[in-house]
Amino acid sequence: MFCYQCEQTTRTPAGIGCASAPGTCGKDEATADLQDILTHLIKGVAQYARRARAMGVADRYTDDFIFYGLFTTLTNVNFTATRFVHLIQEATKRRERIKLLYEEAAREQGKTPEILSGPANFQPADGLEQLLRQASGVAINSGVDHLGSDVIGARALILYGMKGVAAYAQHARVLGYQSDEVDAQAEVILDYLASNPTDIDAMLEESLEVGRLNLKVMELLDAANTETFGAQEITSVRISPIKGKAILVSGHDLHDLKQILEQTKDQGINVYTHGEMLPANAYPTLKAYPHLAGNLGGAWQDQQREFADFPGPIVMTSNCIIEPGKSYKNRIFTLGPVGWPGVRHIDDGDFTPVIQAAKALPGFAVDAEDQRITIGFGHHTLLGAADKIVDAVKSGDIRHFFLVGGCDGASPARNYFTEVADHAPADSVVMTLGCGKYRFNRHEFGDIGGIPRLLDIGQCNDAHSAIRVAGALAEAFNCGVNDLPLSIMLSWFEQKATAIHLSLLALGIKGIKLGPTLPAYLTPTLVQKLQSRFDLDLDLIGEAQADLQAALTHTATA
Ligand code: SF4
Ligand code: SF4
Repeated sequence: MFCYQCEQTTRTPAGIGCASAPGTCGKDEATADLQDILTHLIKGVAQYARRARAMGVADRYTDDFIFYGLFTTLTNVNFTATRFVHLIQEATKRRERIKLLYEEAAREQGKTPEILSGPANFQPADGLEQLLRQASGVAINSGVDHLGSDVIGARALILYGMKGVAAYAQHARVLGYQSDEVDAQAEVILDYLASNPTDIDAMLEESLEVGRLNLKVMELLDAANTETFGAQEITSVRISPIKGKAILVSGHDLHDLKQILEQTKDQGINVYTHGEMLPANAYPTLKAYPHLAGNLGGAWQDQQREFADFPGPIVMTSNCIIEPGKSYKNRIFTLGPVGWPGVRHIDDGDFTPVIQAAKALPGFAVDAEDQRITIGFGHHTLLGAADKIVDAVKSGDIRHFFLVGGCDGASPARNYFTEVADHAPADSVVMTLGCGKYRFNRHEFGDIGGIPRLLDIGQCNDAHSAIRVAGALAEAFNCGVNDLPLSIMLSWFEQKATAIHLSLLALGIKGIKLGPTLPAYLTPTLVQKLQSRFDLDLDLIGEAQADLQAALTHTATA
């Protein structure tokens, strides 16, 4: 087992990476190893898919699996070894299918099909033990002794970025949004990884390609969400319980939430969002359900306490699941790519077991005091108020914008983000997204001439909105995004944040403060190369007050 894809990876003087089970996240050795084999096979699927596409065969069934399969390997998504055995078999079947399609198409066009090597040829063993013996040869750090940590780190940067891309692409696909351009580019990048690249500069170029691909995918997901559920609207969301039976829905998948709302209609059950599902309350189609009662709880790392206290069933639609406590293991359900051993998984879209559990469990006995937060500042809302915002900047009422958000996590160093938000001056606006917002989204920020000082843009993929708003401000002021009075403090934890970070770097946005640590796979050589070769900033967060002052000084001199 070796894994260093997330921020909480083991770091000791002896080395970095979760190299023995369980990983800090709770991942066991078999699951980690099987995830590596699945990832390897998916690269093989992409090798054939890319070549089939070049022969005119674009096979959506194949690409569906590429994205879904990668999604299952993200941090805090799926911990069930048996699911991975099944996914490995499925990956092999799909690879052989697309291989056949490719070879047939090539022959029909009078061409000799290429004979591929690497993941395209990998034959997973039959038994679990034999399968696990194959894992060390396909792990991310395979060959580190002779290739060195820079080569392995650059490959990891591309692969982990692609995992984030896959998760966003999958969220769009379940809503029926797919793009041949995205699928083709994903195949190209995975095919490149399958070639075991060793040229570090070329790999860093490719990592920025991942960032560019992620921009397209976030745009696709934004279209999927807003065209399906309407554009986010400014919404006052209740964050305290109401008397009655209850279901809690966590994760990111709005499609799953819609199905649950539909099936619980008129059943006398209130549905609450949790974690990254909070922005669902601002989408017109979803908030039209009267039994969408609000949001309870905060970021993923608090779920064991919050789920234990919740008096009904809990549904995890995507990351981030952590080991369910005994008190709620029998009333938590997983969907789609998510899994935990012994937890009931719903894979047919029928939420009857969840509804039955909600009716059998006590629910909330009394109404709590009505507490609320305001959300819904996606790009439609903000661009609709652009004139007002631009005027406030011109008049000096707004001096600076901070984008503070991304993932949350358990590290105490993450207090930095709370401090930045809380101490941002009264003539500044704090935009936020992702689950990092829970550190400060109940605090009182006030407003500037009617513009709230805290603007919750949405889920982490709504970084797309932040980019659009920044672009619109730059246009209004006839300058580049880097010339705006805008500072970005990005809180990273897992691979979706990696993809977003690569997108921001690919756009040439400078001075992003990343924290609480730099990713373990970004070796000093890789950081230095990204900075010198591509003129990028890879700044680690510093001390909150000092970073705030520096940001504001920059504004004053810009
Ligand atoms: S996902 Fe993170 S915590 Fe889990 S094994 Fe990998 S690096 Fe370690
Ligand atoms: S923003 Fe990142 S850490 Fe937070 S719930 Fe989403 S995937 Fe998990």
